[in-house]
Amino acid sequence: MDSLLGAVTLASIGIQALLLLYVQVRRQRLRTGYPWLLSTLLLSLLAALTFLLPPDVQITGKYGRNFALTLALAALVIAFGAVVVSDTQRQPATGGRRAWLLLGLLWLGGLIAAGLLSPTISIAEGEWLVAAVNAREPFSLMALGGLGVVGAVLLGICLYAFYIAPLPEIANRALFWIINTAVIVVGVILMLSGSQTLTLLGVITLLVGVAGAVYAQLSYRVFDIRNGVNLSLRTALVVTMTALLLFGALQAVSRLPVRSGMEANVLLALLALAVALLYVPVRQLADAVFRPIIQRGQVNPTIATRRYSQRVSGAVELDQLIRVATETLNESLRVRRSGLILVNDTGGENGQIELMVMPGGGFADFKNIRGYVAKAGPVYRQLAVKQSPLTQFDLEFSPDYKTLAEPERQFFNSLRMSAYAPVIVENSLIGILACGPKINDAPFYPRDLEVLATMANQTGVGLRNARLVADLRHLNRSMEALNKGLEEANQQMEKLDSVKTEFVTIASHELRTPLAQIRGYTDIMDQLNSAGMLNQDQIGSMVGNLRKASERMEELITAMLDVSQLDVNAMDLRFSQTTPEAIIRMAIEPLTDAIKQRKLTLSARGLRGLPTIEADMQRLVQAFRNIVVNAIKFTPDGGRIEINASLQPAEKPGEKDHILIAITDTGVGIARENLELIFQKFYRAYDPGLHSTGTYKFMGAGPGLGLTIAKGVIEGHGGKIWAESPGHNMESCPGSTFFVELPLVPPANARRVLPMEGEK
Ligand code: ADP
Repeated sequence: MDSLLGAVTLASIGIQALLLLYVQVRRQRLRTGYPWLLSTLLLSLLAALTFLLPPDVQITGKYGRNFALTLALAALVIAFGAVVVSDTQRQPATGGRRAWLLLGLLWLGGLIAAGLLSPTISIAEGEWLVAAVNAREPFSLMALGGLGVVGAVLLGICLYAFYIAPLPEIANRALFWIINTAVIVVGVILMLSGSQTLTLLGVITLLVGVAGAVYAQLSYRVFDIRNGVNLSLRTALVVTMTALLLFGALQAVSRLPVRSGMEANVLLALLALAVALLYVPVRQLADAVFRPIIQRGQVNPTIATRRYSQRVSGAVELDQLIRVATETLNESLRVRRSGLILVNDTGGENGQIELMVMPGGGFADFKNIRGYVAKAGPVYRQLAVKQSPLTQFDLEFSPDYKTLAEPERQFFNSLRMSAYAPVIVENSLIGILACGPKINDAPFYPRDLEVLATMANQTGVGLRNARLVADLRHLNRSMEALNKGLEEANQQMEKLDSVKTEFVTIASHELRTPLAQIRGYTDIMDQLNSAGMLNQDQIGSMVGNLRKASERMEELITAMLDVSQLDVNAMDLRFSQTTPEAIIRMAIEPLTDAIKQRKLTLSARGLRGLPTIEADMQRLVQAFRNIVVNAIKFTPDGGRIEINASLQPAEKPGEKDHILIAITDTGVGIARENLELIFQKFYRAYDPGLHSTGTYKFMGAGPGLGLTIAKGVIEGHGGKIWAESPGHNMESCPGSTFFVELPLVPPANARRVLPMEGEK
């Protein structure tokens, strides 16, 4: 064995042993294929070790060193392939790797079988390819063909990973694996070449390849290959041009007419000067050629951040801020899209913060609005505690984020962004500025993240102000609404207040009329009596009139007393079993004369079949009579009054069956704004000037107590009363309907006095 090859092999073995040790120590930081990386290293070591065997060593009498070497290299390629396959899959899934290993084992098994069957093995001997083809030697041909297939499949997998890579960093990694695979395959082929020099090269190449695999597995962020290629091209160009210049100069020197003495020195100095003068523009030319390529997508941080802060500080509204921030960010970082996420730190909730994706910018048509981040998790630590930016690539590849909870990972994946920077105000995280991939698909360099972080910083105050403005707007709106409510309540109060003052007028008026009648009749009786002219007939008619007047007074006073009872919640209800039919019949009985007089028709439907209810009969009769009396009063002669009753089954689970009675008239109707007010004490929708003393006359106004009493009684039964009407019109008479809803059994908290106690 050549001594140089021996030395290199020994050195390679030493280095690989060190790599093995290193991998063993740092195994926690490995990305995916720990066992496979270890196998790759071991097999590579084994392959190198076979070189230390004497070339004529026999295995089972027949097979030499090259058989072992080929098998070790084939196994090495398979193990390395397993690393690549696991690494290029985005989520570490084992399916692909299993298929790969199966393929590899088939190849390996085939190789061993072929080796056992072959009488000779010529691989790795000088000129073996010709001999193997001529002798159709299965082992060597299978080894070479398999190597080709395995290399092609691996390159295909890497190319596909490069093609579908969602992030430039991932594409860069795939690119790295492409190069690494090529290096390993070339190394293996060189080691099997059979030529001393090529084998030597092969050992070194394979070492480089194996070291590359270790590097990629240990560092999740491999160096930027595109940038590396650009830089080396530039260097190559500069070196070539400089070399050409120097070559020209040396040529010139060799043609110098004088070779020594002062003159020659002067000439040489002039030549050196000329070369130096030429070098400067040549260097500049080379830079000029490459600058656009290398600086493509590079950002001038000073200009970018200044422009950003100028624009953002002018934004007051949240929408505006988002628009300006994302537009400026897209422009100055040269990214495809960007967006803003608001952070709500609501404190307690499961130790999480809420992320709200703001529509607009790069999130314009985004569906998933909310996400959560655990305060104990690595994302929160990076953004809120360390207050540092974060890249999507880190989230997916860095070992620091291996423990990231699946929902968090999915949320960030769904954003389709590449980098995030925290927006911090007064040491707390209030938002996240996110930006998508760069337009030129370059990875995010630390200086880009630095710029992004600075911009996020500048967004802080603007964002806080915008949120404050939004809050203020909201507050303002609710204040306005409150104000409006207050104003309405005020108007209502004023109205009611005027109603009360009016009542004094009405009450005195209503009471004064019968009082004046009583006064008048007593005076007349007194005078007639003292004149001795009082006869029986006169006494009879006057006493009749006196009774009417005092009855009217009594009625009024009773109504007022009822109302004052309702006022202090003191109306006693005496419940007993009765039917709605009986109540309505008793309510309308005394009104039949009045109905006839006013030529009204009254009909009642649906009362007969109704079940019994538990109610204070007397009070309910009073309530319904008040309603029907109103219908009579506010319906012109010849009109109709209809009473419709029905049993309403419960609609919702918590409700009970109830009875609904509707009293409809064809009268003057009630204006919308009065529909509720008419139930207020002393409220009359019409001018008290229209006052009429006749109880049942058309538009005969009372003191405004009837509906108040009805409402109090019905609500005391756990029921409801309300009025509906298209409006008030004296000519067209749109009519009105009063609805009364009564439960079959009053609720337990109804104002109830037991019948026995009531009788006492
Ligand atoms: P009043 O003693 O004035 O009848 P109510 O409390 O019974 O007092 O009624 C209050 C007001 O409601 C009435 O003055 C009238 O303006 C209005 N109102 C009540 N019932 C009707 C009805 N059926 N049609 C039109 N207006 C009605």
